[in-house]
Amino acid sequence: MEIRDIQTAVIEANYDWTIVKVITDEDIIGYGECFFAPGLTKVIHELKPLLIGEDGRDIDRLCRLLREAGATSGSGTGGIILHAIAGIETALWDAYAKWLDVPLFRLFGGAFRKRIRIYADCHAGEGLASLSSICTPRIPWWMSRSGETENFYEIHFRAHGGLKEEAQEPVNLQAYAERAKRVKEMGYTALKFDADIPNAYMRDEFNRCLDNLEIDLIASVVEAVREAVGDDVDIAIDCHWRFSPESAVRLAEAVYPFKLLWLEDPTPPDSIDALAQVTRRSSVPIATGENHYTRQQFYDLIVRGGIQIAAPDFQKTGLLEGKRIADLAETFAIPVAPHNISSPIGTMASAHLCATIPNFLALEHHGIDVPFWEELALGWDGPIIRDGYIELDEEKPGIGIELNEDAAYRYRRKDEPFFDRLV
Ligand code: MG
Repeated sequence: MEIRDIQTAVIEANYDWTIVKVITDEDIIGYGECFFAPGLTKVIHELKPLLIGEDGRDIDRLCRLLREAGATSGSGTGGIILHAIAGIETALWDAYAKWLDVPLFRLFGGAFRKRIRIYADCHAGEGLASLSSICTPRIPWWMSRSGETENFYEIHFRAHGGLKEEAQEPVNLQAYAERAKRVKEMGYTALKFDADIPNAYMRDEFNRCLDNLEIDLIASVVEAVREAVGDDVDIAIDCHWRFSPESAVRLAEAVYPFKLLWLEDPTPPDSIDALAQVTRRSSVPIATGENHYTRQQFYDLIVRGGIQIAAPDFQKTGLLEGKRIADLAETFAIPVAPHNISSPIGTMASAHLCATIPNFLALEHHGIDVPFWEELALGWDGPIIRDGYIELDEEKPGIGIELNEDAAYRYRRKDEPFFDRLV
């Protein structure tokens, strides 16, 4: 299974979904997806000469070569080169599983389950903003095409005016409650909201300190959501690394009565000691990991007490390192709830890996507002996510779907290559 070519395409959705396509000498094609980063496809194309002509089944060795090639650019610890490698690696696994004619989960030890629980990220209550690769609000170009700027898009892709402008808008508890109810009605048994809500009580955007009224406000949002969905739906909240340990602990105390599944990323990811202070003192379980890349980093997090639920992002870590991280977590009886903001390509790859992880809790889905999310998958009967679960199919090799390239083309980033098409 010789690697003949590696191509890329970027879909402009709520984030940039960067798709890698590996083409082999036996006409087998594999798809993978990378977590977004500025300049990402340039990195993938720079790495490509190291792979052409190689046996695409030697995946661990090839990824080691790629990591070593990026060592002086920091690939030992994280960042854009590992994002690129993660997408290439997934495409190789997809191609190899297709070559063997087996579903991907067979290559990682087989399934503990084939029905994968999905949790819905509900963002900040009102639909998703679309963010560029440097997390700047944007309106995707395809929205402005004739006939597609109807209310639906404007509601669901409302471009935000930035933290300060947003902060002046009153927080609408009813909107949070209604959104939670709608997501529950879609069949999801777990959902997540942002806890770092821009609000009028915020005194300083940068000092990581929460005032009393801010804590009360966040707690009132969680209370409204809990009342809306009842006790049979799990709720998590995400702090996006914004708070000091002290503020995070006070927030955890305030939301404790509402039985949260976890509180995510309370403090900056680069200080394990700050995280450990929170985990020691918080009654709400602390989840973290989407900004950690390697088993060594997760080992440090675990043994220093900085983590209670592991949330690696497999479009950053890659699948094999993701499995190693999950096994490490299992050694300490820590559950794994992978972070995921992908298109169906990355989501299906992650779902297959989740099937093989005994300590799996739930996989994120961040695309419930993206109108064409399901449309991007070919070779699947009906919706991929049904009643809050992905049911893996033993009969479908690889990640189980192909990319609908014609649909992807309609929502492509115009300043990026689209595989080998002239754009
Ligand atoms: Mg998060």
